[in-house]
Amino acid sequence: MSDAELLNRFAAIVGDGNALTSPSDIAPHLTEWRKRWTGATPLVLLPGSTREVSAILKLANQTRTAIVPQGGNTGLVGGQVPDASGNQIIVSTRRLNRIRAIDPASYTATVEAGVILQTLQTEAERHDRLFPLSLASQGSCQIGGNLSSNAGGTGALAHGVARDLCLGLEVVLANGDVLNDLSTLKKDNTGYNLRHLFIGAEGTLGIITAAVVKLSPRPRGTATAWFAVQSPEAALELLMRAQSRAGSALTAFELVPRLGIDFTTRHIPGVSDPLQNAYPWYVLAEISSSDSQYDADARLGQIAEEGMAGTLVADGIIAASLAQRAAFWRLREGLSESQLPEGASIKHDISVPVARIPAFMAAAQSAVLRIEPDARIVAFGHLGDGNLHYNISQPVGGDRAAFIKLAPSMTEAIHGLVRDNAGSISAEHGIGQMKRQELARTKDPVALATMRAIKATLDPNGIMNPGKLL
Ligand SMILES: Cc1cc2nc3c(=O)[nH]c(=O)nc-3n(C[C@H](O)[C@H](O)[C@H](O)COP(=O)(O)OP(=O)(O)OC[C@H]3O[C@@H](n4cnc5c(N)ncnc54)[C@H](O)[C@@H]3O)c2cc1C
Repeated sequence: MSDAELLNRFAAIVGDGNALTSPSDIAPHLTEWRKRWTGATPLVLLPGSTREVSAILKLANQTRTAIVPQGGNTGLVGGQVPDASGNQIIVSTRRLNRIRAIDPASYTATVEAGVILQTLQTEAERHDRLFPLSLASQGSCQIGGNLSSNAGGTGALAHGVARDLCLGLEVVLANGDVLNDLSTLKKDNTGYNLRHLFIGAEGTLGIITAAVVKLSPRPRGTATAWFAVQSPEAALELLMRAQSRAGSALTAFELVPRLGIDFTTRHIPGVSDPLQNAYPWYVLAEISSSDSQYDADARLGQIAEEGMAGTLVADGIIAASLAQRAAFWRLREGLSESQLPEGASIKHDISVPVARIPAFMAAAQSAVLRIEPDARIVAFGHLGDGNLHYNISQPVGGDRAAFIKLAPSMTEAIHGLVRDNAGSISAEHGIGQMKRQELARTKDPVALATMRAIKATLDPNGIMNPGKLL
């Protein structure tokens, strides 16, 4: 069979209009958000049903055709981008976008993989429920992508990561078989928990076509504060105080460096510094509760007062309106984007035990500045769950290419410190193409061998997203 014949057979499965072949239609699927990876493909398939996905994978398996699953294309490690060979076919889930059911009484939603995260959040709210996964990319990323990358985000502190929010999955395996595990049960001890294999697998074991996710009661009261602190130590101390005062009602605790304010106010329209004076570090803290009697404002006010009395908090402001709250979040969520216009950025997505964050940051800063004294460190993120985006922007006016050449030594230093602190080299973004070699270098050899054995069993012909993760 010629290549053209094979492509026609794939296209016939999804029908006219759902097989993209023109360069302009394909282009948006080939480059990731930061333009770090660009691949090539002759064909993007847009299946409209699980049956079509099954037929695609059956044919791919028979013909040893490599398949790259793609959701919203917001992944940050190149997992959703094909390689440059032009031999890999993209299967986009964007037409699998039905919310099959919302069951407010059971606090579950059954959704197809291509449902946009924000759409599910809005739909849950319409049913007086909360879907607590929350990412700055939520207007574009899809549930299938969220589960395949086991996304974390700002709600992880109180609600856990994507894995914790999933009760059941429907997955098309590499041979085209459909694994129907769309369970809505909290309790189901009937052997190996297979869904956890596919969550975080980054499309290397099969294509997720639908999922049952957990909903939560909708918050009745939310209070949000922007605090200034002098150091990561002070931020950690404030976190412990806030947790002891608010317990599980503390739903976000995000760390922001001064440079993050400089970058966002410079590049993100509508962002301004919430405080009059400049401080080295900031915390965005949020408390919310579904109990209508719970006074979130009073609780946050108490945390602020105690922090200021003890000089833990240098300054702070509690959002007085929804608009002010949104402004705090816009600043936090603009941090990733605001680094783009500042030139090259060497990125790390790490986690260490929360208590070790200050020591890690001090050691990492020394290591980075030893390599490039004028590097600009933008370390920010989910302090509440020990996850930092440890990003390093090039020196002002420096040479982009020369700075990028420093990436291997910077990464070795940062990941070495992660290892010394019992942390992870990928807290929430995954491995993709970006960290494949780092994973091989740093992961426990027995764990790696077990992962390879699972891959060989479920995808013996290696058609699922080759070149990613393993
Ligand atoms: C501005 C911005 C902010 C972000 N913030 C966060 C954050 O706070 N926390 C976080 O965790 N991530 C964050 N991300 C990363 C990204 O949004 C998440 O990883 C998201 O979950 C990816 O979803 P997606 O639909 O875009 O997946 P894609 O990027 O399309 O794919 C991601 C991976 O999943 C695979 N895949 C996609 N769909 C399927 C499927 N149905 N079946 C099998 N495999 C599939 C792909 O092959 C790829 O390996 C951010 C990204 C941006 C651009």
